[in-house]
Amino acid sequence: MTVNQKLNNTCALLLAQAIAHCYENSSLITFNTNDEGFYYEFKSPVSVSNNDFNKLEKQIKKLADSALEINTTVITKTQALEMFAGNKYKIAMINQIEGNEVKIYTYGKYCDLYRGEVENNTKCVKFFKCLNVAGSYWNNDSQSDQLTRIYAVATESKEQMEEYMNFLQNRKERDHRRIGKDLGLFTFDQLCGPGMAIWLPAGMAIKHQIELFIHELQLKYDFDMVSTPVLANKHLYEISGHWEHYKDYIFPPMKVEDIELCLRPMTCPHHILVYENTPKTYKQLPVRLCEESNLFRYESSGGLTGLERVRDMVLEDTHIFCRPDQIKQEVFNCYQMIKEAYEGLHIQLTQVDLSLYDPNDKVKFHDNTEMWETSQNQLREMLNEAGIPFNEEIGEAAFYGPKIDFQIRTNLGRLITVSTIQLDFLLPERFDISYLDSNQKPARPVMVHLGVVGTYERLMAILLEQTKGVLPLWLAPVQVAILPVLPAHEEFANKLKRTLKLHNIRATVDNREERVGKKIRDAQISKVPFQIVLGDAEIKDPNTIIYKTYGGDEPITTSLSDFINMITTTINNKK
Ligand code: ZN
Repeated sequence: MTVNQKLNNTCALLLAQAIAHCYENSSLITFNTNDEGFYYEFKSPVSVSNNDFNKLEKQIKKLADSALEINTTVITKTQALEMFAGNKYKIAMINQIEGNEVKIYTYGKYCDLYRGEVENNTKCVKFFKCLNVAGSYWNNDSQSDQLTRIYAVATESKEQMEEYMNFLQNRKERDHRRIGKDLGLFTFDQLCGPGMAIWLPAGMAIKHQIELFIHELQLKYDFDMVSTPVLANKHLYEISGHWEHYKDYIFPPMKVEDIELCLRPMTCPHHILVYENTPKTYKQLPVRLCEESNLFRYESSGGLTGLERVRDMVLEDTHIFCRPDQIKQEVFNCYQMIKEAYEGLHIQLTQVDLSLYDPNDKVKFHDNTEMWETSQNQLREMLNEAGIPFNEEIGEAAFYGPKIDFQIRTNLGRLITVSTIQLDFLLPERFDISYLDSNQKPARPVMVHLGVVGTYERLMAILLEQTKGVLPLWLAPVQVAILPVLPAHEEFANKLKRTLKLHNIRATVDNREERVGKKIRDAQISKVPFQIVLGDAEIKDPNTIIYKTYGGDEPITTSLSDFINMITTTINNKK
């Protein structure tokens, strides 16, 4: 959704005067416009809330209807300082402008500092809406003055405004943070620390199903499971090069006796230690290792976003050590594995990127032109032969090699990498690992890094956004909600729950002292696929089930055995 920036800049000028009118003694500061509208930032002497939107909007309309001509003019810095005297924020902004000229807007008796093109008359602003209030800090400095931002949008037509409001509503419904709360999947607690997710039972039920599914895939594609520590000697990352290229994302090391220990940001060097534990010959390659790894990355607190960007995460981290002649087949298998995973999880990819090095950047990328060209060509060939459409992105490779990134656009419009296949000729060299070739000569293996579904945290965010929390049955944390009408029906309900659980169906009994109507509503909010209400009539025949589906209106009657069959078949088909 992209709005007309010129129109939104114009509306921002009107919102500024509406703010000045509604909040006496406030200091207007500045505005910012993007694809989705704009905000005006100001210092308010009183608290501002959504309840004020009506009067602000009325004031904007009044100003728009008065058809003020808007002019852009240039004045001297001295004139500007005089014009905005008494507003310390504007004064600071003017003092930061280089040179002696200051561009301003004038409209009626009002003026503001120039921030971009505007319409030439306020009457162009016809359709607008205040959306949100948020706190901010002067110059984004939390030690500085606390400010208020009012977010708003202007559109060109009534229809466009409706479309925009639908877009916002849809985004709200897809917000994984909100769905996670509604379904009781995960939480964050300041006592644990920002960016560290706590998985609640319902969330863990989903995560565990995905773990089992991925482990099945790993078995199918012939990986061996290993386990390595979450702490490692800093020297390990110095050898691997992660310390040099990645240290801003590594938590500060802790000194224990004479060793500096780091919380690991990735598992690659650890798996090299596994590889080199026993000598290998060409016949034993490829070696395929997998591990469910806890990883820690220092993300700035401002960048943390629900489960999408966290500091503590779990990655199904997999590495393949192979001969150069095996690369193409191995990479193709990795791709097949990713494809199967996405099909099972019902997740849609946005695009595939081939991330290449930048030959001009000798700092970020390991300096070895031949290595880069050979490995990039192999990945390109594989993608072409498999008929996968892809984009080439120069400068997006890892420092050790090119990669194929599987990208998904998030609810907030960001394109993020979920799965990745990376070729690496550098780490085997840095750790000097080898195998004996057919002539009994030492040779260097190639390392392939594979993230099949990325971290569980990010995967969960994507899954919730794409499904709006209506998960396929096999992933639903609760598959059947049994809702007894009265306490007298609870014994029957508990028996039914045990029967379903014996068939590996996740069922719960809602035995809260609530009216059944409330229980049904709550089961809907939790998006439980099947609901069974148990009253006097329903418990007469223990072999008959009357159920409703999520979102369905009509109750369906069936036998208990058919009900169980229908659910287990669906689950087994990963539907
Ligand atoms: Zn790796």
